[in-house]
Amino acid sequence: MSSFEWILLGLLLFEFLLRCALEIHDARAFQRKPDSFALARILPIVNDIFPPESNFSKWNENDGAFVKAHEKAHAELHHEMMRKFFWASSLVCIALLLGAIGIPFHLNLLGLLFLFHLIFNFAKILFHFICFAQEYEADSVAAKRLQKGVSKRAIANLMASEFPRTRLFAYVYRTHPTARMRDAALNRSKTH
Ligand SMILES: [Zn+2]
Repeated sequence: MSSFEWILLGLLLFEFLLRCALEIHDARAFQRKPDSFALARILPIVNDIFPPESNFSKWNENDGAFVKAHEKAHAELHHEMMRKFFWASSLVCIALLLGAIGIPFHLNLLGLLFLFHLIFNFAKILFHFICFAQEYEADSVAAKRLQKGVSKRAIANLMASEFPRTRLFAYVYRTHPTARMRDAALNRSKTH
């Protein structure tokens, strides 16, 4: 095995250890055992195939007004287009990086797969930061358009239905911030 392939393996091991630490951090924060998806989350490559968790929250059916206003804000602010643009440009960057690193280091298919996995997962976390900013923005626009208390109640109901996670877990695995994070963001923007 070439020295670069050893570095890739080292990075995969490092990823595995970081994900284990995150599981422990999350389990301790809420004093519970890791859930049944934990094993699929911590194993590199396997975590690209399986979803990180089951559906983690559900809107209350009485909060339709907030959900509708939130989705309308997403549409008006062209959030979906920005997400697609992010992935289109990321995939071009990933392809260029694979070529720029894979060719000079003579990586075989497995090496390229490992490299793809590492860059792809880094991009995924960046993507989550963008998604979170968009969710906060859509929440804030929706809250401003609705009667006082409507958004607060909707987010409170979401919080009650949600499987609780730490902020760190959400940034690594979720496209949506936790309801608690959304509540805090709305309080900060004073639109609740
Ligand atoms: Zn949204």
